[in-house]
Amino acid sequence: MNRSDKISSPISLSSQVSKQDRIIGAYLGLAVGDALGATTEFMTPNEIKYEYGIHQTIIGGGWLRLKPGQVTDDTEMSLALGQSIIDNNEVINIAVAQAFSDWMHTKPIDIGNTVRRGILHYRTSGNPDNDKNEYDAGNGACMRTLPIAIFHCNSSFEVLQKASKIQCHVTHNNIVSDVGTEAVLKMLTAAFNGNSKNSLEKYAHALVDKFPLYRYDKRKIENPSGWIVETLQSVFQAFFTHNNFEDILIDVVNRGGDADTTGAIAGMLAGACFGQKSIPVEWFNKLDANVRNSCTKQAIDLLLLSEPESFNTSG
Ligand code: MN
Ligand code: MN
Repeated sequence: MNRSDKISSPISLSSQVSKQDRIIGAYLGLAVGDALGATTEFMTPNEIKYEYGIHQTIIGGGWLRLKPGQVTDDTEMSLALGQSIIDNNEVINIAVAQAFSDWMHTKPIDIGNTVRRGILHYRTSGNPDNDKNEYDAGNGACMRTLPIAIFHCNSSFEVLQKASKIQCHVTHNNIVSDVGTEAVLKMLTAAFNGNSKNSLEKYAHALVDKFPLYRYDKRKIENPSGWIVETLQSVFQAFFTHNNFEDILIDVVNRGGDADTTGAIAGMLAGACFGQKSIPVEWFNKLDANVRNSCTKQAIDLLLLSEPESFNTSG
């Protein structure tokens, strides 16, 4: 695919964006959000204002001292999960756990505590299903969920949910993490299948109806923690307030806190709705070229392996 041919073309209306384009847009959106947000991860909004005014350029740095365009565990774990699905043409618990373990052997630049503990649990016990833990409601399972959405973009919700639990429970076996991740999966698959951004809010409302702690209409969530609830509250606020990729991402990463992960989740949702051409060219060009290629290739490979559309029961 030659991106440079397409840069100058105007942003398409969402109805003109193909399914493959939405899926590639989601994967690149995840990586762009990760790379943009990593700069302001663990900063407060005031610190960001003082340092950058508005943070809107991919410059690297941050507490991880990244190169401009470098990504973190959010993108890397997604790619590890996706490769495991491609290799097996299925979401298999042992294969997913092994893929995460292999990734940890590469000495990643950052890794969450719950993720590390889950992988060590697998290594020592051989069991890819972590024990239920009421404290494991971090965002680490949700941040890497995108390959599940692509591979199961035409599957029933039951199939999608089963696959999601397999990948989540390697590290996060927690109901609050499960339901938040499943809401994001419903939004992603609906967006891939051409539903408008605004129509996706019904999935956020359904989540809040069942789990009121997810309410996101009360106050602006600044400095969101790695708790899946605060992460998704800030993502939903930004995502349902703005109507283009750039504004959604700038809003969410300038809230600081777990900004690479809010950026990654907001980026995958926005990319899924608006397609790859909605990603600002400057951000696209700054993204590490290997990451850009891996994300694009994996998006296409996972789509090719997904169930045929005639089985589509999503919605
Ligand atoms: Mn990260
Ligand atoms: Mn993070």
